[in-house]
Amino acid sequence: MTRDPKHESAGYQPLRPQATGLGEFLAPVAGFGVTFAAMFKPVVTEDYPRKKEAPQSRYHGRHQLNRYADGLEKCIGCELCAWACPADAIYVEGASNADLPENAGAEPGALAADSPDGAHMSPGERYGRVYQINYLRCIFCGLCVEACPTRALTMTNDYELAGNSRAGMIFEKQDLLAPLTEGMLAAPHPMAEGTTDTDYYRGDVLGATQAQVDWVTERRPDDETLDAAAAVASGSRPGPAPRQHELRPDAGPGAAEKAAGEAAAGSVQAPSAQEPALDAAPEGAIR
Ligand code: SF4
Repeated sequence: MTRDPKHESAGYQPLRPQATGLGEFLAPVAGFGVTFAAMFKPVVTEDYPRKKEAPQSRYHGRHQLNRYADGLEKCIGCELCAWACPADAIYVEGASNADLPENAGAEPGALAADSPDGAHMSPGERYGRVYQINYLRCIFCGLCVEACPTRALTMTNDYELAGNSRAGMIFEKQDLLAPLTEGMLAAPHPMAEGTTDTDYYRGDVLGATQAQVDWVTERRPDDETLDAAAAVASGSRPGPAPRQHELRPDAGPGAAEKAAGEAAAGSVQAPSAQEPALDAAPEGAIR
Protein backbone atom coordinates (compact mmCIF):
# COMPACT_ATOMS: atom_id res chain seq x y z
CA MET A 1 0.00 0.00 0.00
CA THR A 2 1.42 3.36 -0.94
CA ARG A 3 0.92 6.63 0.77
CA ASP A 4 -1.28 9.12 -0.94
CA PRO A 5 0.76 12.33 -1.34
CA LYS A 6 -2.46 14.27 -1.79
CA HIS A 7 -3.60 13.23 1.73
CA GLU A 8 -0.18 13.84 3.22
CA SER A 9 -0.07 17.33 1.76
CA ALA A 10 -3.50 17.95 3.30
CA GLY A 11 -2.17 16.99 6.75
CA TYR A 12 -3.88 13.57 6.80
CA GLN A 13 -2.51 11.29 9.53
CA PRO A 14 -3.44 7.58 9.38
CA LEU A 15 -4.82 6.19 12.66
CA ARG A 16 -2.72 3.05 12.36
CA PRO A 17 0.90 2.93 11.25
CA GLN A 18 1.32 1.88 7.65
CA ALA A 19 2.41 -1.74 7.14
CA THR A 20 5.84 -2.24 5.68
CA GLY A 21 7.81 -5.19 4.31
CA LEU A 22 6.01 -8.58 4.71
CA GLY A 23 3.03 -6.96 6.42
CA GLU A 24 2.51 -4.69 3.45
CA PHE A 25 2.79 -7.69 1.11
CA LEU A 26 0.13 -9.72 3.01
CA ALA A 27 -2.21 -6.81 3.73
CA PRO A 28 -4.59 -7.55 0.79
CA VAL A 29 -5.36 -11.05 2.18
CA ALA A 30 -5.16 -10.24 5.89
CA GLY A 31 -8.96 -10.16 6.13
CA PHE A 32 -9.14 -13.84 5.19
CA GLY A 33 -7.42 -14.61 8.50
CA VAL A 34 -10.61 -13.60 10.28
CA THR A 35 -12.63 -15.91 8.02
CA PHE A 36 -10.22 -18.77 8.57
CA ALA A 37 -10.30 -18.40 12.36
CA ALA A 38 -14.12 -18.30 12.35
CA MET A 39 -14.25 -21.70 10.61
CA PHE A 40 -13.19 -23.39 13.87
CA LYS A 41 -15.67 -21.61 16.18
CA PRO A 42 -19.06 -23.12 17.19
CA VAL A 43 -21.88 -22.39 14.75
CA VAL A 44 -24.39 -19.92 16.20
CA THR A 45 -27.01 -20.06 13.44
CA GLU A 46 -30.43 -20.49 15.10
CA ASP A 47 -32.56 -23.33 13.84
CA TYR A 48 -35.69 -21.20 13.52
CA PRO A 49 -38.57 -22.08 13.22
CA ARG A 50 -37.87 -25.62 14.44
CA LYS A 51 -36.17 -24.26 17.53
CA LYS A 52 -37.46 -21.01 18.95
CA GLU A 53 -35.18 -18.98 21.12
CA ALA A 54 -36.65 -16.76 23.80
CA PRO A 55 -35.89 -13.09 23.29
CA GLN A 56 -34.80 -10.87 26.14
CA SER A 57 -37.39 -10.58 28.91
CA ARG A 58 -38.03 -6.90 28.12
CA TYR A 59 -38.62 -7.60 24.41
CA HIS A 60 -41.67 -5.74 23.09
CA GLY A 61 -43.84 -8.30 21.32
CA ARG A 62 -47.54 -8.91 20.87
CA HIS A 63 -49.80 -7.23 23.42
CA GLN A 64 -51.91 -9.02 26.00
CA LEU A 65 -54.98 -7.92 27.93
CA ASN A 66 -54.66 -9.40 31.41
CA ARG A 67 -57.17 -10.69 33.93
CA TYR A 68 -57.61 -10.63 37.68
CA ALA A 69 -57.34 -13.85 39.65
CA ASP A 70 -61.12 -14.40 39.66
CA GLY A 71 -61.28 -14.16 35.87
CA LEU A 72 -62.55 -10.58 35.48
CA GLU A 73 -60.79 -8.52 32.84
CA LYS A 74 -58.46 -5.73 33.88
CA CYS A 75 -59.31 -3.48 30.94
CA ILE A 76 -61.89 -0.82 31.82
CA GLY A 77 -62.22 0.60 28.32
CA CYS A 78 -60.81 4.01 29.26
CA GLU A 79 -59.08 4.46 25.86
CA LEU A 80 -55.94 5.97 27.40
CA CYS A 81 -53.81 3.46 25.51
CA ALA A 82 -55.42 4.55 22.24
CA TRP A 83 -54.75 8.22 23.01
CA ALA A 84 -51.15 7.47 23.96
CA CYS A 85 -50.42 5.54 20.78
CA PRO A 86 -48.24 7.66 18.45
CA ALA A 87 -49.10 5.45 15.46
CA ASP A 88 -52.88 5.49 15.99
CA ALA A 89 -52.82 1.70 16.02
CA ILE A 90 -55.27 1.06 18.89
CA TYR A 91 -59.04 1.34 18.79
CA VAL A 92 -61.11 0.93 21.97
CA GLU A 93 -64.80 1.18 22.70
CA GLY A 94 -65.83 1.04 26.32
CA ALA A 95 -69.24 0.01 27.59
CA SER A 96 -71.09 -0.08 30.89
CA ASN A 97 -71.18 -3.33 32.81
CA ALA A 98 -74.80 -2.51 33.61
CA ASP A 99 -75.63 -2.90 29.90
CA LEU A 100 -74.42 -6.48 29.69
CA PRO A 101 -77.14 -8.85 28.42
CA GLU A 102 -76.83 -10.83 31.67
CA ASN A 103 -78.13 -7.76 33.54
CA ALA A 104 -81.13 -7.31 31.28
CA GLY A 105 -83.64 -8.63 33.81
CA ALA A 106 -82.53 -6.37 36.66
CA GLU A 107 -85.05 -3.97 38.15
CA PRO A 108 -84.66 -0.41 36.80
CA GLY A 109 -82.35 1.45 39.16
CA ALA A 110 -81.45 -1.67 41.10
CA LEU A 111 -78.20 -2.09 39.22
CA ALA A 112 -76.21 1.12 39.33
CA ALA A 113 -73.48 1.35 36.75
CA ASP A 114 -70.74 0.91 39.36
CA SER A 115 -72.59 -1.61 41.54
CA PRO A 116 -70.60 -4.70 42.51
CA ASP A 117 -73.78 -6.77 42.00
CA GLY A 118 -74.89 -8.14 38.68
CA ALA A 119 -72.71 -9.33 35.86
CA HIS A 120 -69.33 -7.71 35.29
CA MET A 121 -66.73 -8.18 32.60
CA SER A 122 -64.30 -6.06 34.62
CA PRO A 123 -64.47 -4.55 38.12
CA GLY A 124 -66.16 -1.19 38.45
CA GLU A 125 -68.39 0.64 36.05
CA ARG A 126 -67.02 -0.06 32.60
CA TYR A 127 -65.24 -2.65 30.51
CA GLY A 128 -63.57 -2.75 27.11
CA ARG A 129 -66.29 -3.92 24.71
CA VAL A 130 -64.20 -3.49 21.55
CA TYR A 131 -60.43 -3.63 21.56
CA GLN A 132 -58.33 -3.71 18.40
CA ILE A 133 -54.64 -3.30 17.66
CA ASN A 134 -53.56 -2.81 14.06
CA TYR A 135 -50.16 -4.51 13.83
CA LEU A 136 -49.53 -2.91 10.45
CA ARG A 137 -49.28 0.38 12.32
CA CYS A 138 -47.92 -0.64 15.71
CA ILE A 139 -44.28 0.32 16.28
CA PHE A 140 -44.03 -1.61 19.58
CA CYS A 141 -42.92 1.45 21.51
CA GLY A 142 -44.80 0.43 24.67
CA LEU A 143 -46.35 3.85 25.34
CA CYS A 144 -49.77 2.17 25.54
CA VAL A 145 -48.50 -0.03 28.36
CA GLU A 146 -47.24 3.00 30.24
CA ALA A 147 -50.59 4.78 29.80
CA CYS A 148 -52.77 1.93 31.10
CA PRO A 149 -54.05 2.79 34.59
CA THR A 150 -54.96 -0.78 35.56
CA ARG A 151 -51.96 -2.69 34.16
CA ALA A 152 -54.45 -4.40 31.88
CA LEU A 153 -52.18 -4.06 28.88
CA THR A 154 -48.72 -5.59 28.77
CA MET A 155 -46.47 -6.81 25.98
CA THR A 156 -45.56 -10.46 25.58
CA ASN A 157 -42.46 -11.87 23.95
CA ASP A 158 -44.42 -13.27 21.01
CA TYR A 159 -42.52 -12.10 17.96
CA GLU A 160 -44.32 -14.20 15.32
CA LEU A 161 -46.58 -11.51 13.95
CA ALA A 162 -46.52 -12.12 10.21
CA GLY A 163 -49.81 -12.45 8.35
CA ASN A 164 -51.05 -13.03 4.84
CA SER A 165 -53.76 -10.37 4.78
CA ARG A 166 -54.05 -6.80 5.93
CA ALA A 167 -57.33 -7.48 7.72
CA GLY A 168 -55.75 -10.37 9.57
CA MET A 169 -53.17 -8.05 11.09
CA ILE A 170 -55.87 -6.23 13.03
CA PHE A 171 -56.03 -8.22 16.25
CA GLU A 172 -59.37 -8.19 18.02
CA LYS A 173 -60.03 -8.41 21.75
CA GLN A 174 -60.38 -12.18 21.66
CA ASP A 175 -56.93 -12.41 20.05
CA LEU A 176 -55.35 -10.26 22.74
CA LEU A 177 -57.15 -11.38 25.89
CA ALA A 178 -55.14 -13.62 28.21
CA PRO A 179 -56.73 -17.06 28.41
CA LEU A 180 -58.25 -18.19 31.68
CA THR A 181 -55.73 -20.02 33.80
CA GLU A 182 -56.76 -22.99 35.93
CA GLY A 183 -58.87 -21.73 38.84
CA MET A 184 -60.18 -18.57 37.15
CA LEU A 185 -63.94 -18.21 36.66
CA ALA A 186 -65.08 -17.20 33.19
CA ALA A 187 -66.60 -13.70 33.02
CA PRO A 188 -69.17 -12.26 33.16
CA HIS A 189 -69.96 -12.69 36.84
CA PRO A 190 -70.34 -10.35 39.85
CA MET A 191 -67.35 -8.85 41.57
CA ALA A 192 -66.13 -10.59 44.71
CA GLU A 193 -68.59 -9.63 47.43
CA GLY A 194 -67.60 -6.70 49.62
CA THR A 195 -64.94 -5.45 47.22
CA THR A 196 -64.48 -2.39 45.06
CA ASP A 197 -62.49 -1.93 41.89
CA THR A 198 -59.73 -0.44 44.08
CA ASP A 199 -59.47 -3.73 45.99
CA TYR A 200 -58.99 -5.51 42.68
CA TYR A 201 -56.34 -3.03 41.57
CA ARG A 202 -54.46 -3.44 44.85
CA GLY A 203 -54.33 -7.20 44.35
CA ASP A 204 -56.60 -8.06 47.29
CA VAL A 205 -58.74 -10.45 45.22
CA LEU A 206 -56.83 -13.71 45.06
CA GLY A 207 -59.42 -15.99 43.44
CA ALA A 208 -63.10 -16.65 42.84
CA THR A 209 -65.46 -16.67 45.83
CA GLN A 210 -68.30 -19.09 46.56
CA ALA A 211 -70.92 -16.43 45.77
CA GLN A 212 -69.38 -15.90 42.34
CA VAL A 213 -69.29 -19.65 41.73
CA ASP A 214 -72.94 -19.96 42.78
CA TRP A 215 -73.92 -17.10 40.46
CA VAL A 216 -72.29 -18.76 37.47
CA THR A 217 -73.61 -22.22 38.43
CA GLU A 218 -77.16 -20.86 38.38
CA ARG A 219 -76.80 -19.26 34.95
CA ARG A 220 -74.16 -21.37 33.17
CA PRO A 221 -74.13 -24.80 34.83
CA ASP A 222 -72.05 -26.23 31.97
CA ASP A 223 -69.29 -23.64 32.31
CA GLU A 224 -65.96 -25.50 32.09
CA THR A 225 -64.24 -23.20 34.57
CA LEU A 226 -66.67 -23.93 37.41
CA ASP A 227 -64.97 -26.97 38.98
CA ALA A 228 -61.53 -25.45 39.36
CA ALA A 229 -62.98 -22.12 40.50
CA ALA A 230 -65.14 -23.92 43.08
CA ALA A 231 -62.03 -25.64 44.41
CA VAL A 232 -60.35 -22.24 44.80
CA ALA A 233 -63.44 -20.83 46.51
CA SER A 234 -63.56 -23.73 48.98
CA GLY A 235 -59.89 -23.34 49.79
CA SER A 236 -58.94 -26.81 48.58
CA ARG A 237 -56.59 -25.36 46.00
CA PRO A 238 -54.71 -22.07 45.84
CA GLY A 239 -55.83 -19.23 43.63
CA PRO A 240 -54.33 -18.89 40.17
CA ALA A 241 -50.73 -17.75 40.15
CA PRO A 242 -49.77 -14.74 38.04
CA ARG A 243 -49.69 -15.94 34.51
CA GLN A 244 -46.39 -17.08 33.05
CA HIS A 245 -45.90 -17.76 29.37
CA GLU A 246 -43.76 -20.38 27.80
CA LEU A 247 -42.26 -20.72 24.36
CA ARG A 248 -44.65 -22.52 22.15
CA PRO A 249 -43.87 -26.24 22.22
CA ASP A 250 -44.81 -27.01 18.62
CA ALA A 251 -41.33 -26.60 17.19
CA GLY A 252 -40.64 -29.23 14.58
CA PRO A 253 -42.21 -32.49 13.52
CA GLY A 254 -43.20 -34.72 16.41
CA ALA A 255 -42.77 -31.93 18.95
CA ALA A 256 -46.40 -32.14 20.09
CA GLU A 257 -45.99 -35.85 20.85
CA LYS A 258 -42.71 -35.13 22.61
CA ALA A 259 -44.32 -32.42 24.74
CA ALA A 260 -47.21 -34.75 25.59
CA GLY A 261 -44.74 -37.47 26.58
CA GLU A 262 -42.81 -35.09 28.81
CA ALA A 263 -46.05 -33.94 30.39
CA ALA A 264 -47.06 -37.54 31.04
CA ALA A 265 -43.68 -38.14 32.63
CA GLY A 266 -44.26 -35.10 34.82
CA SER A 267 -41.25 -33.17 33.61
CA VAL A 268 -43.23 -30.30 32.11
CA GLN A 269 -46.75 -28.97 32.40
CA ALA A 270 -49.01 -30.02 29.53
CA PRO A 271 -50.23 -27.03 27.52
CA SER A 272 -53.97 -26.64 27.75
CA ALA A 273 -56.16 -26.26 24.70
CA GLN A 274 -56.74 -22.63 25.63
CA GLU A 275 -53.08 -21.74 25.89
CA PRO A 276 -52.02 -19.38 23.12
CA ALA A 277 -48.77 -19.79 21.29
CA LEU A 278 -46.98 -17.20 23.36
CA ASP A 279 -43.95 -16.55 25.34
CA ALA A 280 -43.53 -13.61 27.62
CA ALA A 281 -42.28 -12.31 30.88
CA PRO A 282 -44.49 -12.66 33.98
CA GLU A 283 -47.65 -10.67 33.82
CA GLY A 284 -46.68 -8.29 36.59
CA ALA A 285 -43.28 -7.49 35.15
CA ILE A 286 -42.65 -4.10 33.64
CA ARG A 287 -42.11 -4.61 29.95
S1 SF4 B 1 -55.90 -1.42 28.02
FE1 SF4 B 1 -55.64 -0.02 29.79
S2 SF4 B 1 -55.44 2.02 28.86
FE2 SF4 B 1 -56.29 0.67 27.26
S3 SF4 B 1 -58.52 0.94 27.44
FE3 SF4 B 1 -57.97 -0.85 28.70
S4 SF4 B 1 -57.66 0.00 30.76
FE4 SF4 B 1 -57.61 1.75 29.36
